[in-house]
Amino acid sequence: MTWELVAGLETHVELSTKTKIFCRCTTQFGGEPNTHCCPVCIGLPGTLPKLNRAVVEYAVKAGLATNCKISNISKMDRKNYVYPDLPKAYQISQYDKPICRHGFITLSSGKNINIERIHIEEDAGKLIHERGNTFIDYNRGGVPLIEIVSEPDLRSIDEAVEYIDKLRLIMKYTGVSDVKMQEGSLRCDVNISVRKKGSKSLGTRTEIKNMNSVNFIAKAMEYEFNRQIDIIESGGEIEQETRRYNSDLNITESMRGKEDATDYRYFREPDLVTLTISEDEINKYKSELPELPDVKLQRFINEFELPEADAQLLVKYKRVAEYFEEAAKDVKNKKLTANFILGPIFRRLDTESEKEECRISISPEYLNELVILVENKKINFNMARTALGQMLDTGKPVMEVISENEMAGIDEDDLRKICKNAVETNENAVKQYLSGKEKALAAIIGFIMKETKGKADAALATEMVKQLIANR
Ligand SMILES: [Zn+2]
Repeated sequence: MTWELVAGLETHVELSTKTKIFCRCTTQFGGEPNTHCCPVCIGLPGTLPKLNRAVVEYAVKAGLATNCKISNISKMDRKNYVYPDLPKAYQISQYDKPICRHGFITLSSGKNINIERIHIEEDAGKLIHERGNTFIDYNRGGVPLIEIVSEPDLRSIDEAVEYIDKLRLIMKYTGVSDVKMQEGSLRCDVNISVRKKGSKSLGTRTEIKNMNSVNFIAKAMEYEFNRQIDIIESGGEIEQETRRYNSDLNITESMRGKEDATDYRYFREPDLVTLTISEDEINKYKSELPELPDVKLQRFINEFELPEADAQLLVKYKRVAEYFEEAAKDVKNKKLTANFILGPIFRRLDTESEKEECRISISPEYLNELVILVENKKINFNMARTALGQMLDTGKPVMEVISENEMAGIDEDDLRKICKNAVETNENAVKQYLSGKEKALAAIIGFIMKETKGKADAALATEMVKQLIANR
């Protein structure tokens, strides 16, 4: 029997507005526990929430960037549940009139993963379990979130991973969130069920809550997929429930039976007015959106003629992509610029966060100068590579690491003389080359490079050597 995985994701993204959703407390991550709080966000009686308009802007931008329709009219609702992380005993969220609807994200296969809705809500506080006690930190309480709910369109773990990666990148590009998963600013719940391949009906699903690592999400989905198949194949039935992923044991375990919407007793938040967004506002936000990652990727491939893999690596890091564009300004051969970044420069950026932050010790203008020198044949590729190393070590521009003299290169007559000498001195290599060993040429070119301290144009020298050997 072949089983098919059916999954949908609910992705919580913390918005990077400066202040919280209903008060003026800072949204900054960390801080001494319970210092980013006020009577509003700890829900003291008599306080009233006031919606931070920047939250609306960010949510609309997130919606536009994921092809959603924006609701001109929406409202806030109370979602009631009792848990210590929520001092009011209700969360202000959106129930039946979310701010965005009916969007999609296109995977590299061309398949669309539909987005049912995006709604805004407040984050809860954080429970810290320590030495047999539970402590509560309300700093995170009231930080604005959007929840992006996909349709159950995902059919494999690979699709889920790509969907999260794409979503993350889009949020990063639009600037609505820093999407730092390790700090919990992007967290996913996965709804997952299995069915016989080819079947149209949906099986009973379970929900795995609150994961903040793509790696854990993939592992949890794999475990849950197999667990459900085992139960069905041994004659059992899947229970609709909420589960958690235990990363120490790499299993999912039952948390509680699944709540239905009725358990939350949603009702309209009486302390907030109807949320209206005009077409003018929507158009304004649309015009403020930056070029999105997929569009940039296609431009790098089509206009700049970069190989797809190179373009993908550059676009993956927003700041690196921007650095590349600066460095490749007025350069004909964009590929060369990309090569310098993805080769020698990336080798010095060890961690993902160093790449995310684009911690390159020279400005894009410096790299641009270097590439233009190569393009104008003032220096050859080898010299440029050496110079780049020195530039990255010292942070200095190319003119300070290569002298005028070195930059003059070697004139063709001189190079021909050196090539002639090289052919005469390396008889053995010439013989090997003549007997069909193309590689033997490398020894002769190596000799020339040594003689010229790397200044010779390797391609030109190769041409000359071949000619000299042929004319002997
Ligand atoms: Zn507050």
